[in-house]
Amino acid sequence: ALINMAMLVKETELRGSPSLAMILVNAFQLLYVVDAFWHEEAILTTMDIVHDGFGFMLAYGDLAWVPFLYSLQSYFLVTHPQKLSLPLAGGIVLLNGLGYSIFRGANSQKNTFRRNPADPRVAGLRTIPTATGRRLLVSGWWGFVRHPNYLGDLIMALAWSLPCGFTHILPYFYIIYFTLLLAHREARDEHQCLRKYGLAWQEYCRRVPYRIFPYLY
Ligand code: NDP
Repeated sequence: ALINMAMLVKETELRGSPSLAMILVNAFQLLYVVDAFWHEEAILTTMDIVHDGFGFMLAYGDLAWVPFLYSLQSYFLVTHPQKLSLPLAGGIVLLNGLGYSIFRGANSQKNTFRRNPADPRVAGLRTIPTATGRRLLVSGWWGFVRHPNYLGDLIMALAWSLPCGFTHILPYFYIIYFTLLLAHREARDEHQCLRKYGLAWQEYCRRVPYRIFPYLY
């Protein structure tokens, strides 16, 4: 967020005022950062904490890779100014809102369920029992696809790239890389869940056949 803001200040120095595209990129990513802090407790039920633990991937990823990667769009906008019409900007805001609601809805639903399955917000959802005593959600967001949170995250990634126009691949590096990362992450999680839940996981996969993109993958 700080690097993005620095890019916004640089653009203002160069051209007198920040562009609409720059404001959108800053606002979208700031929302993502603030959301992570606001819903900090939901991080406790993510793969990073439950399975992976703190090691090279998180240390290098969070300190070096993420700040570099997430600021590519604002960096691009400093050197490649974009004219964004109001209707297009409105469409991109709606797309980001859609991605954010899927992302936040899915992550909060799973977190609420894992912490207290009797919570009224999730108590009415259908579940599959597993041999471990834990249950798997098969309705709500987790009955839509097996990783609705990844779907929402990818929709947001697209909304963060679109303000940069279509003249260069650089601003799209993030969504390309992120699609590969999440597909790989999904395969790792699938493997873990199959090991953990066995037949119950196979039943979940049968009832919720798509991994990330409905009717596609
Ligand atoms: P998830 O939050 O998707 O957690 C996966 C775990 O959820 C599974 O191992 C399983 O664990 C549980 N689970 C899976 N299916 C169900 C179900 N049907 N019902 C109940 N529990 C289920 O994993 P991630 O840590 O990969 O993702 C967290 C968020 O972080 C996502 O929104 C992702 O997009 C985001 N992310 C962002 C990155 C970035 O660079 N911006 C990088 C990576 C992730 P168990 O049963 O043990 O609870």
